[in-house]
Amino acid sequence: MRQAGYIVAKVLELMREQAVPGVTTAELDAMAETLIRDHHAIPSFKGYPPGSPNPFPATICASINAELVHGIPSDRVLKEGDILSVDVGAIHEGYHGDAAVTLPIGEIDASTQRLLDVTKGSLYAGIAAAKAKNRTGDISAAIQEYVERHGLNVVREYTGHGIGRQMHEDPQVPNFGERGRGVRLRAGMTVALEPMVLSGSPRVRVLDDNWTVIAADGKLTAHFEHTILVQDGEAEILTRLS
Ligand code: MG
Repeated sequence: MRQAGYIVAKVLELMREQAVPGVTTAELDAMAETLIRDHHAIPSFKGYPPGSPNPFPATICASINAELVHGIPSDRVLKEGDILSVDVGAIHEGYHGDAAVTLPIGEIDASTQRLLDVTKGSLYAGIAAAKAKNRTGDISAAIQEYVERHGLNVVREYTGHGIGRQMHEDPQVPNFGERGRGVRLRAGMTVALEPMVLSGSPRVRVLDDNWTVIAADGKLTAHFEHTILVQDGEAEILTRLS
């Protein structure tokens, strides 16, 4: 899983370099797929879920501005001031890695930067709570409190998740909850934490492509995710470089 995590981290590093005004999300998707395959891994989102009549068609989820998660890469051109969430998963020797970042495209305004900072901060608040003997509710509450303290909202409908030989395993890790509730964490568990944050109302809807999740009020949203290894002390982040 460390290798899968490393490959995912490399993709997000590449996306950070390449996501600039004038680039399309389809171009970013092609770069991501090439990097994953060059590392002898498989893009886990492409064709997911297997057997579905409408599987996800791409390597990355590319969600722009009000789009929260699960955006489909396209010929849409990124422009100055946009924010782009890139979520990517890879399978290496049967093990999964999964991570996401929200990137500024060129210069963004201060309130948009704050949305990114708060969302990323809430991810790290969740990671700090992800210690053996704590419960999933401790992570959920840490994320929710961090976000709401900054006047923003967490999504209710989509959650973090266990990860390992499958991309989505038990336990679910919601971005809201109560301390002391949920599944008890054990050293050696691997989970993907992924706060999804809305600058306006927490209501979301799914576009006609049956994938893209967008803020119902059209306001900006952000998403950060890491795959982590739970330990007795601080968790190890598997989808971070070095
Ligand atoms: Mg995930």
